[in-house]
Parts: sequence; C-alpha cells; structure tokens
Amino acid sequence: MPALPIYMDYNATTPCDPRVIEALVPWLGTHFGNPASRAHAFGWEAAAAVDLAREQVAQLIGAEASEIVFTSGATESNNLALKGVFEKYYQKGKHIVTFATEHKAVLDTCRHIEKLGGEITVLPVDKEGRPDLEELEKAIRPDTILVAAMYANNETGVITPVKEISEIARRHNVLFFSDGAQAVGKTPVNVNTDGIDLLSVSAHKFYGPKGAGALYVRRRGPRVSLAPLIDGGGHEKGIRSGTLNVPGIVGLGKACVIAREEMEQDAVRLATLRDYLEEQLLLLPDTKRHGDKNHRLAHTAHISFGNTNAASILQQIGKEIALSTGSACSSADPEPSHVLLAMGLSKTEAVSSLRFSLGKYTTKEEVEYVVRVLKGLSIK
Ligand SMILES: *Cc1c(COP(=O)(O)O)cnc(C)c1O
Repeated sequence: MPALPIYMDYNATTPCDPRVIEALVPWLGTHFGNPASRAHAFGWEAAAAVDLAREQVAQLIGAEASEIVFTSGATESNNLALKGVFEKYYQKGKHIVTFATEHKAVLDTCRHIEKLGGEITVLPVDKEGRPDLEELEKAIRPDTILVAAMYANNETGVITPVKEISEIARRHNVLFFSDGAQAVGKTPVNVNTDGIDLLSVSAHKFYGPKGAGALYVRRRGPRVSLAPLIDGGGHEKGIRSGTLNVPGIVGLGKACVIAREEMEQDAVRLATLRDYLEEQLLLLPDTKRHGDKNHRLAHTAHISFGNTNAASILQQIGKEIALSTGSACSSADPEPSHVLLAMGLSKTEAVSSLRFSLGKYTTKEEVEYVVRVLKGLSIK
C-alpha cells in the first residue's frame, strides 16, 4: 500500500527536486548578496549565480542568455508579454488574437487590455482542443500585433501546434507569444525551431520553487521590445525592476539543468503509467477521455464520469488522493471549466470530469491504488 495521501495534481504545482533545494538554500543564508550591488563581493557572487541560471534557462529552450527576463512566474510573464507588447506596439495596432482554452492569466489579461482600448479575438478550438488554423489565418488583420497560444494546456495536456501557428504569425509579420508554463521542463521546447517570440516559464511546474519564472524575449529576427509592468531600479534591462529573487532564480536554473537531462526518460515512464490509468478508468461505465490523444503531454489525463459530479468524487476521496476538477486556479468557483466548455462538452460532462496529472515521483503502486479507489466508488 502506497503512503497516503497520494499526490496526482502535478499540473497545479510540483514539489522541489531535492537537488534544486540543495542548490538554492545557500542563497537564502550565507550567500545573501544583492546582485545589483556592484561594489563588493557579496553582490558579485550573487550576480554570477544569476548569470549562470540565466544561461541554464536559455539552454533548456534554445535561447540566448540575454533573451531571458526573470519574473515571479508565468502569471507575471503572461501579463508582461501581453501588456508589454500592447503598450509598445500601439502605433502598429491594437489587435490581439488568442484562443478560448488559454489559461486565465492570458484570457483575463486580454480582457484588461480590452478595457484599455485593445481589441481581442478569441478563437474557438475543436472538440479535441486543437485550434483551427484556418480561423487563425482569417482572424489576422493589418492592425494585429500579437498571436497568443499556449504551448500545452494545463487541464487536458493537449500540445498546441505552435510551429504551424508561428508560421502563420510570421507570414503576416505578427509577433507570436506562447504560455509555456505546462510545457517547459516536461517536453522539448525550442524557441527557434518553434518560431516563438515570447515564451512564459514557471519554475514550480517542473520541480523548481514557487515564485520564480521567466519570460523569453526574442532579440533577433525580429527584435521584440516590451514596455515594463514594473518600473523602478531598472533591473533586467529595465523590463522588470525589483531586486532579483536569487534563491528562486538559482532553483529555476537547477530545475532547467535537471529537466534537460531527465525529462525525456521521465516522459516515457509517465506515458506508460498514464495510459494504464486511462485504460483502467475507461472500463467504468459512462467514462470518457478528453483532449487530442496524439498531441499531448505524457503525464496528464482528463476523464469525465458520466452523471457523477466530480466535486462529489473529490469529497469522497480527497483525504487520500489529490486530484483536481478543471484548473486549480479556478477551483474556488464551481463554474465548469472554460477549457472543457470550449471543447464542446456539455455542462454536465464538464462538471463530471477530473484531471489526473502525474509527475516524476508518481509510482506504479500509486496509480494502481487510485484505480482501485475509483473503481470502488459508487460512480453512476
Ligand atoms: C500554472 C500556470 C500558469 C501560472 O503560472 P504561475 O507561475 O503559477 O503564475 C500560467 N499558465 C499555465 C498554462 C499554467 O499552467
């Protein structure tokens, strides 16, 4: 019997890898310097640690170190990309195109931009959660400044055809921004082969610390400029002022090094566990799998349970098994997930669905236990 409770909500957050903790702890204590202190050794060593982490983040995504801006996480990076482009490119236009299955940190930011005078087109997806590329082609206008499409969906794990999208954006001379919070560190992402101009990264989604992240900002072909969200001391080339979170940044860098070496083997193992979990749960009456089976993250399964309310399942098993209905960020409100509704699920189907997100510490034993518990419930 596995130790309880079982954590199967890795898309909400992940524990720090012990090697990440080991790397970052000294930067909380003895090595406490401010990297902006240019006049003494405390500052120099902190600045060197930040430089190394910048290099490590860049390497994971095929970027240059000079293209990495450290932030507090993907929510901030998404805000910075969208608002920063909107403010900087207003002379070219005020139109942004995005998709209905984006994270709230993108959709709500777009809503805010709308209030500032921007125009937003939110495109639909098909029932597999895949964007319609012909619709995208038609939606782009002469005053379009940005296309925003997430790399992988946090609820369904569906991987977006970013390369096809970036080719369309590039052909129309429009910048392409991707929220990479669920993809970076779990599946190979390369800003050059994928044609990404701006990419959000979040450390705590791949075994790094919470409150640390980055925004990749392309410097060549094209050179992207951004207006800052936060003004002040001019840190991060003036794009993001504020004393750098050195322990968080060092932890993010270490998480990137580990991911580069291990994510592909981890994904192979997790796909096998995920497939077993799905296969077993789909034997239950009225269950259904959601999201494009051929283009998705290895560790995410999204399954609906007929007429059984997912919240009532969680109530029965929540003490033993950590799962999520829809996205963690909106689980405080009982509304069905906007992602599932956009994929054409009925409200009943949407509120009957559960997200199983596995991670590198998930064991076969845990998966078997979860299957046993769910099979034992009175699911009608
Ligand atoms: C978790 C997540 C975010 C928010 O990231 P934070 O670093 O927690 O702010 C944004 N987008 C997606 C797709 C996510 O999964």
